[in-house]
Amino acid sequence: MDSKIIKKEKLLSLLERFIADYHVLAPVREDGVLFYRPVDIPGDIELNPGRSVLPPKGRLFPQTEALYGYRVEGEKLTLNEYVEEERQVVLFGVHPCDLRSFAVLDAVFLEEPRDAYFAARRNNTVLVGVSCSSVLPECFCTTYGISPVEGNGADIHLTDVGAGAYLVEILTPRGKDLLQKFESFFEDNVAGAAEAKRAKEASLVKKISLQVKVDGLHEKMASIFENPYWEKLSRRCLGCGVCTYVCPTCHCFDIMDDGTKEEGERFRCWDSCLFREYTLHTSGHNPRHALAQRLRNRFFHKLSYNNQRYNTEGCVGCGRCVALCPVNIDIREVIGTVRGLV
Ligand code: SF4
Ligand code: SF4
Repeated sequence: MDSKIIKKEKLLSLLERFIADYHVLAPVREDGVLFYRPVDIPGDIELNPGRSVLPPKGRLFPQTEALYGYRVEGEKLTLNEYVEEERQVVLFGVHPCDLRSFAVLDAVFLEEPRDAYFAARRNNTVLVGVSCSSVLPECFCTTYGISPVEGNGADIHLTDVGAGAYLVEILTPRGKDLLQKFESFFEDNVAGAAEAKRAKEASLVKKISLQVKVDGLHEKMASIFENPYWEKLSRRCLGCGVCTYVCPTCHCFDIMDDGTKEEGERFRCWDSCLFREYTLHTSGHNPRHALAQRLRNRFFHKLSYNNQRYNTEGCVGCGRCVALCPVNIDIREVIGTVRGLV
């Protein structure tokens, strides 16, 4: 791993060069709310972003995407498959928890048979991570062994080390390739920066208010599948699906056709296991007809199923669902209750 320093004004110039050569997606504020968007002006980018409302997973797994178009002319069927654009994408400003979520998505979409659409985007994306500069009340990444300053999963990782300087860690050959023609933007003297990063980590970790433990939980969850706790918890759930839409690791989708029998498009869009239609069979039978069953499924997926199937945690402790659930269903409290029941 190679490390360098870049000053803030040089970082803005570097981003300008990225914008000229690549398609850049980065955190920007829209009406005060943070989203990852295509960027044309470096000054629009939040260099030390807080938590975005929607996670950056949308770059790899868009909320809605057309898979292919179809046209039927007499006996002839033509499929027009949509392919990833050729220009490389730089996804800038991804926090450590969201970096970890990409590993969760990789396990799902890149296992055989691979999802060609996800794989093409993954292959064409350079990930630039950024250390957190603050901790929000709902953050609990450390539960999953994630440090708020780590760059695991990124190609390049930035940490604001104060005095207008950023520590730049070049973590993969892809990251090295991206930066090699911009060497003049960097300084080599990183003395003190690693220490500043460690101090930042210690200060941020101390601010994480609620510590919960998940060790060994996934193996014990089966014993409380039928526990009345799920029905009780579901009495205040609205079934709105917000918790799943804002989650960086949720990956369920629906596939639909839009068009006529002569021509149209097949597309997919995010789905939610909280919705009644999610498991509704054509026959009318629904194996998860009650909201309690659907809410239980969500927590089992996060705390048990994902671990059993992919050997990765299904949650990264980003806190989005905690912050945005309209009835304050808090996964940290659920974990605490479940630990007492198993
Ligand atoms: S956000 Fe809250 S109310 Fe909405 S489905 Fe999720 S747990 Fe239920
Ligand atoms: S379950 Fe909640 S806290 Fe965990 S990754 Fe998803 S949105 Fe974040």
